[in-house]
Amino acid sequence: MSKCEKCGALIEAQETYEFAGESLCEDCYLEQRVKPVTCDPWAVYSARSTKGKAPQLSEIQGRILNLIKTKGPLEAPEICGQLDISEAMFQNNFATLRHMELARGFKDGDKVRYTLF
Ligand SMILES: [Zn+2]
Repeated sequence: MSKCEKCGALIEAQETYEFAGESLCEDCYLEQRVKPVTCDPWAVYSARSTKGKAPQLSEIQGRILNLIKTKGPLEAPEICGQLDISEAMFQNNFATLRHMELARGFKDGDKVRYTLF
């Protein structure tokens, strides 16, 4: 038995996860792994709960998809400007769309444009 260094839970050796040099329980390990997107509650929620389920888009993801469908391919600043969202918010949401294979980015000269998958 060892102890999770984050929440203090007792964990079996085979259920110990290493993250950044710490021994963590599965819950804390998953929490660490989704950390880059914890500012987006929906992304965290979906990372945990969409296993095997049909993907469901958040409102903002639907709007991004719709915009590049009708006006794309577009660059990030154009998308952010039209939807009035921050670049970070766009990147977070776009990562989900890309993960679902609904949209993708591609290089167009020295620019990156976004289009449907
Ligand atoms: Zn823990």
